[in-house]
Amino acid sequence: MIKELTCICCPMGCALKAELDDKGQVISVSGNTCIRGENYARSELTAPVRTVTTTVLSKDEKPIPVKTKEPVPKEKIFEVVEDIKFQRIDLPVKMGDVVVKNAADTGIDIVATRSVD
Ligand code: SF4
Repeated sequence: MIKELTCICCPMGCALKAELDDKGQVISVSGNTCIRGENYARSELTAPVRTVTTTVLSKDEKPIPVKTKEPVPKEKIFEVVEDIKFQRIDLPVKMGDVVVKNAADTGIDIVATRSVD
């Protein structure tokens, strides 16, 4: 089976074709200009992950832009957002500070993407 997908690792957006065996394992990837495209296709077709970007509120209701420190499994995105949306963070925070540890028991922390006083 051939799966077609677009690499999202850089603005070139290479059109990828991945050949899968009957167990869903990736046999080969073509159309990529660099190794990142092959790695992306293999990950996307076996264990897709995404970096989650959102905002959380401080204790005085200021929005703090945040993201996951590392990509999380795609099926955990909703749980991560649910876990952090009612948390209230002490200010000030600096860009890169961990504001929530181990979001939704993924082992992945949430970090501020901007400093907020
Ligand atoms: S395969 Fe490489 S060059 Fe092509 S979109 Fe992906 S990262 Fe960019």
